[in-house]
Amino acid sequence: MIEGPPPGAGRAAAGGLRPGATRGLVSGTIPFSSVDGPGNRFVAFLQGCNFDCIACHNPYTIHACHHCGECVDACASGALTFDGAEVSWDADACTGCDDCVRACRFDSTPKARTLSVDELVEAVRGPAPFLSGVTVSGGEATLQAGFVRDFFATLKADARLGRLTCFVDSNGAAPAEVWDDLDPVMDGAMIDLKAFDDDVHRRMTAQPNAPVLRSIEQLAAGGKLHEVRLLLLPGVNDAPEQLARTAAWLRGVDPDVRVKVIGFRCHGVRPIAGDVPEPTAEAMAGYAEVLRGEGLERLVLV
Ligand code: SF4
Ligand code: SF4
Repeated sequence: MIEGPPPGAGRAAAGGLRPGATRGLVSGTIPFSSVDGPGNRFVAFLQGCNFDCIACHNPYTIHACHHCGECVDACASGALTFDGAEVSWDADACTGCDDCVRACRFDSTPKARTLSVDELVEAVRGPAPFLSGVTVSGGEATLQAGFVRDFFATLKADARLGRLTCFVDSNGAAPAEVWDDLDPVMDGAMIDLKAFDDDVHRRMTAQPNAPVLRSIEQLAAGGKLHEVRLLLLPGVNDAPEQLARTAAWLRGVDPDVRVKVIGFRCHGVRPIAGDVPEPTAEAMAGYAEVLRGEGLERLVLV
């Protein structure tokens, strides 16, 4: 069973609340990233995902913590406490060793925090002079679309922060109305396309790919598709014939689409992906050749 954030997290401000009061479940933030969209970006990773990807590199963001308390003894720094009902995390005592995350059997973390939009915006102010923008990632950020929308809207209304571009890094499963809701305050989106063939996609994510393809089409039509990401796992989703059909479809959606080809890396993934090898440099070059052969020119290989 895939779990999202707890009830209320990510709900848009309503009933007269200010947008800045909207609260979301945030797994963590990093002040600077050069791999989560254009330029130098602040990134907020939101907790909870509706996919269960075999190659997930942030598996501790998949489920909301259900406060079982099992991970508390793994913390040698005393940063975790359990009162019988709830696990509390002391950020000041935490060394960032992640022993608690490794101890959790439920693809979660005791360090996710419920933050208001105002609190998240304050976290952006310090690094802001050095930033091109902000990105919300995950987990699946669009599961907390109200929080994301109010975060972006608050940034854009701020005299000092309004210049920052606002991007979403997504698995693409969000329905059209979510993208419509985000559109006025979102500058761009990076969408993962795990597989063009639905049966392969279902094996990789436990979810269908039709919503992902539809999101890519919608974002491209609206000029908000910054990048499509192809995470390639040898023997799983890298068959040349499938890559060629993927490229042909993408070219039809947007002949100028930017595609990031990401070679699978074992680091950080769960044991279910343990048998999948990492692609060689030759394999990566072969992927690029197939994609270019179908007319995709704006390739980035990582
Ligand atoms: S990451 Fe922090 S809370 Fe988790 S085990 Fe290490 S010190 Fe404790
Ligand atoms: S992080 Fe995992 S092990 Fe720790 S309390 Fe939450 S669900 Fe339990």
